[in-house]
Amino acid sequence: MPAKFIVVLGSIMSGLGKGVVSSSIMKILDLYNFKVLPIKFDGYLNYDCGTMNPYRHGEVFVLDDKGEVDMDFGTYERFLNTSLTSSSSITGGKLFGGIIEKERRGEYLGEDVQVIPHLTNEIQEKVKEFADRNKLDFVIIEVGGTVGDIENGYFIEAMRQLSLKEQVVFVDVTYIPRLKTVGEQKSKPTQFAFRTLMGMGIIPQFLVCRTDGEMSDSIKKKLSMFTSLDESRIINDPDMDSPYQLPQYLINQNFDKILLETFNMYNKKINTEKLEKWRDNVNRIISKDGKMVTIAVIGKYVELKDSYVSVREALMHAAGKLSVNINIKWIESELLEKSNPENILREVSGIIVPGGFGKRGIEGMITGIKYARENDLPYLGLCLGMQLMAVEFARDVCNLKGANSTEFNPDTKYNIVDILPSQLSVKQKGGTMRLGSWEMVIKDKSSIAFSSYHKKTVSERHRHRYELNNKFRKILEENGLKITATTKDNKLAEIIEWPNGFGIATQAHPELKSRIEDPAPLFLSFLSAAKNNS
Ligand code: GLN
Repeated sequence: MPAKFIVVLGSIMSGLGKGVVSSSIMKILDLYNFKVLPIKFDGYLNYDCGTMNPYRHGEVFVLDDKGEVDMDFGTYERFLNTSLTSSSSITGGKLFGGIIEKERRGEYLGEDVQVIPHLTNEIQEKVKEFADRNKLDFVIIEVGGTVGDIENGYFIEAMRQLSLKEQVVFVDVTYIPRLKTVGEQKSKPTQFAFRTLMGMGIIPQFLVCRTDGEMSDSIKKKLSMFTSLDESRIINDPDMDSPYQLPQYLINQNFDKILLETFNMYNKKINTEKLEKWRDNVNRIISKDGKMVTIAVIGKYVELKDSYVSVREALMHAAGKLSVNINIKWIESELLEKSNPENILREVSGIIVPGGFGKRGIEGMITGIKYARENDLPYLGLCLGMQLMAVEFARDVCNLKGANSTEFNPDTKYNIVDILPSQLSVKQKGGTMRLGSWEMVIKDKSSIAFSSYHKKTVSERHRHRYELNNKFRKILEENGLKITATTKDNKLAEIIEWPNGFGIATQAHPELKSRIEDPAPLFLSFLSAAKNNS
């Protein structure tokens, strides 16, 4: 059977949670035991997300195969509980780059190379090849951006063309605003959005409507009238406590049955055992019954919560497993440079310093780490959080005044953290960090690392250019810092721990592999230490 395609578009504005809708549709199909994978189209001309600022674009997600991709990939992986590959990510940059290479090779000799048909054909071929290679029942294609943008127009046109040859269903995620002054929900923007899509030759078979609170019946009726869609195809997607609630919410509206019927698939049965398990995990995450534990995340991009989505989700997964009710206190690291840390951190039960780049806010993070060490607060450092844990230990325990990373002070006398030797010859910025999944070996069976992972060899995803400087291993260890995991050849420190209390940090990003069914081990042990501490 050839694969079927579900194309998820977004109308009116960005930030509506198209990624969550796409992931929920995938989850539902997975619960029906279909083989389903996503493709994400991003119209920007960057090759990938690697060079983007998380402040503007949200977290850069890293795949096993070194791909630096859009944060939606984190949502896909967390919903599907599957590791994806870079072939799911199709960007404007990759496409145009490929077309130009082909043109130079002479593959279009005699032709003038155009968006239609050359680019649109290229997109369709990629999508079909992806479906065939992975032997998929369904491909969910999320089109980044908003309908009407110039950037994603050629993707939408390619999908219209695909729908002439293959089985394609379009789902439009749209917004129903509520006017505060009149307290009423408004359908007009969606009516216009629908017309825009029809003008592009596309008639969505479903409207998923983002609202605050359920849509009123009158709005549904109105939308049905203006779009000629049956009311059952106009789906509610109100704000929820957790994104993981959406699949069940869609099922409650019979979305699954109507979707399959649209593809002429009748009498398909959901796998009730899988559904029960999923529901149970989601209920654990949204439950407010457990002990309240406050965790501080000290970062430099906290104003945009999307910058740390995977850290937040890894904490949620661990909280579900441990029946903890978690309260995340996002702390802008520069604040700790200006005020007394006691005032800011007094009521927290554990501290995380996540990944980051550049000098701004670094000293505030170090202040937070010092506060955790001196006050016996559980600490978890992620990538930059490990590098700074080593710097703080060097400064305050080993007495190496002014110790730093050469990323922040190239002239420091004590370059506790320095550029990876393999990076010295690197000239280009894009895709050149130490990326993707790498194995590490846990050396010490009495370590927190071993009691978290329960095995010696583990694999986590990475994204960094700097590392703990091996010249300082000896002095750090003599003063009590434990290097409990390294790469197999012992050349890179991968996990370090404080001699006392719960303080652990890793050069990796374990949050990227955390799943609702399988929370990241270091987050589990950190949160359980914080729970005991609260
Ligand atoms: N800036 C640091 C490095 O490049 C840390 C990177 C990170 O936290 N992902 O090594």
